[in-house]
Amino acid sequence: MRPVKLQFLGATGTVTGSKFHLSNQTNSWLVECGLFQGLKELRERNWQILPIDEKALNGIILTHAHIDHSGYLPVLTNRGYDRPIYASESTVELCKILLPDSGYLQEEDSRFAAKKGFSKHSPPLPLYTYADAINSLQYLKALPDKEWFDLADNVRMMLRPAGHILGARFINVSVDEKKRHFNVLFAGDIGGYDALIAVDPGQVKSVTYLVLEATYGDRLHQEEDILDRFEGIINKTIDRGGKVIIPAFAVGRTQEVLYILRKLEKQGRLPNIPIYLNSPLAIDATGIYVKFMHEHNFFKNGLAPTEAFHPARLKQVQDSEDSKHLNDLSEPAIIISSSGMMTGGRILHHLKAYLPDPRSTLVITGFQAAGTRGRSILDGARAIKIHGVPVAVKAEVEFVESLSAHGDWRDIIRWLKGFESPPKMTFLVHAEPDSAAAMKQHIEEELKWNVSIPKYLEKADL
Ligand SMILES: [Zn+2]
Repeated sequence: MRPVKLQFLGATGTVTGSKFHLSNQTNSWLVECGLFQGLKELRERNWQILPIDEKALNGIILTHAHIDHSGYLPVLTNRGYDRPIYASESTVELCKILLPDSGYLQEEDSRFAAKKGFSKHSPPLPLYTYADAINSLQYLKALPDKEWFDLADNVRMMLRPAGHILGARFINVSVDEKKRHFNVLFAGDIGGYDALIAVDPGQVKSVTYLVLEATYGDRLHQEEDILDRFEGIINKTIDRGGKVIIPAFAVGRTQEVLYILRKLEKQGRLPNIPIYLNSPLAIDATGIYVKFMHEHNFFKNGLAPTEAFHPARLKQVQDSEDSKHLNDLSEPAIIISSSGMMTGGRILHHLKAYLPDPRSTLVITGFQAAGTRGRSILDGARAIKIHGVPVAVKAEVEFVESLSAHGDWRDIIRWLKGFESPPKMTFLVHAEPDSAAAMKQHIEEELKWNVSIPKYLEKADL
């Protein structure tokens, strides 16, 4: 019997850097290839060599396109990786826009570091460039759902829908040796139930080993009527003569916001004001969401997919010159732009223009990591720095927490309760330490399963 090993190369003690190395004596694969983000000590890991034989990798498999699951791919292809990168078709399409954008942002960061003189590289180097990211795309290979695909002799895999964002899949790797059969399910990020756009997570009946996220292991999402909430925010802002500013992640959150606005419009509850989508990446991502309309959850929500993201007064802003005009609009308007945590991108210019305006409203629609402008504002900062200049926060701030692409701990428990038999071991990843500990407790109390919280670089024998 050949031992199979699973090593945790990321998403341990953090929600970023997902990378899991699955290997036996003759073959090895990387499941997920994510970038570390956020704290500096985590980001520095992006510059280290992986403690595995990269040349021996047979393939890479992705659960979904988010950069914390895919953004390390160009680093590997730059170091000579030239084997397939497997993912669902819609994940492949999203990677084609997200990875080049990530390369562009890396270059922008290094230019900024050069200007400020705070890089240890001289001149400062990007982790990878736009061109590097484009080069990495040639290895992406789309796989269909619910069909076995041979990875090697006795090892095969199958993808199945996970909810979360467009393209997200569970990866089921099955090892069939003479005397041993077992499988490992990499659950990636799991969406909640009854989401606006994403489908419910597909029910899995049994696995031998489960690698499970615990982002919200210690939190429950607030229950609210999301249409009522947006209608209220928009109406009171218009009454004051202000602008509704919505920083939104380009993939997933932007489409949810557009969908909410279209639903309000359809019900005659959306005031007749212009809506600007000011993010080329989000515009492209919306196009991909429309292309893969069959993967969404629209049927029970009563909107045809082709119209779902297009309120009548939506204006998509590609050109950065046009984008600047949005900062001196005289009439009320809704402006959606990225980045979602206000760490960069076109949203910064709108914040400069409208945060000091008490008539306007800033609508925060997602998780804000420590160290970001979004987190400072949520923590009550009266001013934030943008491009080195302090900007007063006088606009009203609304935090719409219920829009999350991750299930909360009750959603995860609901999914686990659908299993017919417990896994031999459940490995909790993709969580800050407190969330992982809380999720472990929930699973042990409600299901009595074996749960482990692996440490960075820890190896498990399967
Ligand atoms: Zn994700």
